[in-house]
Amino acid sequence: MARVYIAYTGGTIGMAPTQDGYAPRAGYLAELMHQMPELRAPQMPEYTVHEYGTLLDSANMTPQHWLEIARDIEAHYDDYDGFIVLHGTDTMAYTASALPFMLEGLAKPVILTGSQIPLCEVRSDARANLINALLIAGAGDIPEVCLCFGDRLLRGCRAQKLAADGLNAFDSPNFAPLGRLGITIDIERGLVRPPMPDPDGLPFHVQALVNPPVAVLRLFPGVTGDLVRLMTQPPLRGLVLETYGVGNGPDRDPDFLAALSEATERGVVIVACTQCVRGAVDLGAYRAGSALARAGVLGGADMTAEAALAKMFYLFSRGLPVEAIRELIGQDLRGELTA
Ligand code: ASP
Repeated sequence: MARVYIAYTGGTIGMAPTQDGYAPRAGYLAELMHQMPELRAPQMPEYTVHEYGTLLDSANMTPQHWLEIARDIEAHYDDYDGFIVLHGTDTMAYTASALPFMLEGLAKPVILTGSQIPLCEVRSDARANLINALLIAGAGDIPEVCLCFGDRLLRGCRAQKLAADGLNAFDSPNFAPLGRLGITIDIERGLVRPPMPDPDGLPFHVQALVNPPVAVLRLFPGVTGDLVRLMTQPPLRGLVLETYGVGNGPDRDPDFLAALSEATERGVVIVACTQCVRGAVDLGAYRAGSALARAGVLGGADMTAEAALAKMFYLFSRGLPVEAIRELIGQDLRGELTA
């Protein structure tokens, strides 16, 4: 019988009603799952629930928590066929973007899921999400970090939360779903990546994050050079710049461009993503984009800002020189961008 390890980090899925609204309650999720006869059906895998000491609203997640999750998977890697991470939806796409980089040499499924309505409610979406995640993790044949939610199985480092309400809250606008969860679970086998060999030829292990100072800046009409200077001052090492359209910014503002150049010349790695939900950055398409490239900004292709940020955390944590990081930013390492 297949075995699945469930790391329960928090989120709406296991919350209980209180006088102050929904809040996590220790032991409650496992108790509710125990009352679900469908989880004992013969086609279901065996599972173990590991409830974290502090159940988080995912708004509180930090890279330290990502590391805790990665280490938890590492500690149980050999004993299970697949892994589920139960997680709040608010920052699930960030965790789903970070884990693929941290889990070097991953050859088993790691499925993030949660719900918009707690499992204790009659109309909860948790039931279906949990069952789908268990079946997919138990099958053991998708060696990727995925996000399973509503009617879709998405590649983790392509996923974004696109709806604050609504039960199909996630999508991967620049990459087709790895699976459609309808009457049947249909996996798009051609899109699933083969197990990722470790860059140094090592067996499965976790690349720890050292919390390098990185940040995100979303351009807006009126953004100034001084704001860029403020954000990029030491010790900042990496910046995800959410640019307009195909990678444009205010090229008629010389002080803005100068501030970007000052930062990149000091070794700050700046990568441009698009504010649009769909499409890729092409810094050569407009003068307002090539001016950014001349200031040393790198194109982030069709990476989400979540994935670009996670990639920065990962590359800086590997202790690579700036030139190597600049080189790797535009390369497809985990299926996070279309090269
Ligand atoms: N605020 C919650 C969280 O992200 C929302 C959810 O789980 O749906 O933990």
